[in-house]
Amino acid sequence: MRQELLTWFAREGLLLQSVTANPEDPEHDEIKVTVRAPIVALGRGREDFRECPDPVRFGYPESCLELMTLEDLHWFILRWFEGAVAAGRARCFVCNKVLDNGPEQPWDAVFVSADWHCWLVVHFDCKRYLGRDLKGRNPFEVELREPELFDLRLTEREDQ
Ligand SMILES: [Zn+2]
Repeated sequence: MRQELLTWFAREGLLLQSVTANPEDPEHDEIKVTVRAPIVALGRGREDFRECPDPVRFGYPESCLELMTLEDLHWFILRWFEGAVAAGRARCFVCNKVLDNGPEQPWDAVFVSADWHCWLVVHFDCKRYLGRDLKGRNPFEVELREPELFDLRLTEREDQ
């Protein structure tokens, strides 16, 4: 992740910290602090977690973060999820079904701010079970991959 994006998350108060002691070496009270930026989840599986996509990699100007608000980032992440759904790559976090953009089972992107700092996608009808499915999971245990460069239609807002 670019330092600029990490700094931006710090400014927004969105970095998570995990502090652990090293149990294998009790003579040195070494403490390990892990700092982590918010993540995105294409589903609930082990391989579904991604680092937060960087707007610059999707054509935003280098300096965009200076002006971006959290709302702007939410909007950008929603576009990224739309690209993922269009590509058939996103699953509902609760029922694990592949999401589509048809009218029958609408979905929503949710930012889980408590404990997790994670954007995920879920059917409207499944949302009420989300708390149950997040319980007991530790965001520091998930393995992160590089976010895919889905085809985003970032100019949509101007068209409307
Ligand atoms: Zn669902």
